[in-house]
Amino acid sequence: NLQVLLKRRPVGEPVEGDFEIVEGPVPLPGHGQVLVRNRFLSLDPYMRGRMSDAKSYAKPVELGAVMEGATVGEVIASNDPAFAPGDAVMGGQGWQRFCTMDGAKLRKVDVNEVPLSANLGVLGMPGLTAWVGLEDIGEPKPGETVVISAASGAVGQVAGQIARARGARVIGIAGGAAKCAFVKDELGFDDCLDHRGDLEAQLDAACPNGIDVYWENVGGHVQAAVFPRFRDFGRMVMCGMIAQYNIAPGADAAGAPPGPNLGPVVRKRLRIQGFIVSDHGWQRYPQFRAVMLGLIRGGQLTWREDVVTGLAAAPRAFIGLLKGENFGKLVIKVE
Ligand code: NDP
Repeated sequence: NLQVLLKRRPVGEPVEGDFEIVEGPVPLPGHGQVLVRNRFLSLDPYMRGRMSDAKSYAKPVELGAVMEGATVGEVIASNDPAFAPGDAVMGGQGWQRFCTMDGAKLRKVDVNEVPLSANLGVLGMPGLTAWVGLEDIGEPKPGETVVISAASGAVGQVAGQIARARGARVIGIAGGAAKCAFVKDELGFDDCLDHRGDLEAQLDAACPNGIDVYWENVGGHVQAAVFPRFRDFGRMVMCGMIAQYNIAPGADAAGAPPGPNLGPVVRKRLRIQGFIVSDHGWQRYPQFRAVMLGLIRGGQLTWREDVVTGLAAAPRAFIGLLKGENFGKLVIKVE
């Protein structure tokens, strides 16, 4: 079995030496357990938090343990009557080729609906995040202006397309011309702005009447540019602030980008709300999946994956994710 372990807790930006790649025997499934061969591993920004032992909403990965992560794979052997060899399953099997899991922790997926890897993106945790955040916090209405940061990424691409399907005018923000062209031309956003350019001027041109909903994935200079442009009763969906994940907690904000002046929250009656998808999201997974499959069949939802081959390439790819080097939902093809 090939596994990627957490060797050391990173300080600042993770480096490949923080991980250790080991080979070991294939595990045997115990009572009620299933042996799964992982085919795709999801790499997600939250993993930076799990590498740190700073206080958070979830426990960190122990040093020497397999890195945590969602996977999709194939059942090889099963001691649970609900699963048979050959079944396609999704679960949190971690950065490894094989693993044994209690059947109760696995979910069967239908590979006739979407390709297997899409269960880690558009129909997985990132897609669920986009749907929950818009249902509960963003609540975009027809004609409203919705701005989505990291628009070409796993969460952003789904959030923008859902908002558009609900009749909103959707403006993406992404890094570089290629990502912006994809967001506009392939995902069908109304426009996409390059945050490496003069974002404030681009926002003024694209949102002349201001912004009703801002989907926050990034923080930093993107947030600073968007925030003053809220309309009255605007909603800010606080999904993540990836620009800050490599800044050590309690580092006295050294290196942290300046935050916006929150004064207008009162005057404009803004709603700023954070959420964590795992709080209640998975209970609503069947409803989410049905809605997404409807949008896919109706031609209103498409997606892009960034597929990197080989578990050994996962540390490097993950480090790149925190710097915007991915283009689309980042997954590892486990060989
Ligand atoms: P993405 O696929 O969007 O990849 C991250 C993207 O963020 C990069 O491609 C890059 O896009 C942008 N980015 C990275 N670093 C910076 C930086 N320093 N400054 C500006 N932009 C940067 O990742 P996900 O869709 O998986 O995650 C998006 C956000 O959603 C993250 O903040 C994540 O933590 C959060 N999240 C929150 C969840 C929740 O339950 N609250 C659940 C899942 C995700 P570009 O090149 O366009 O700038």
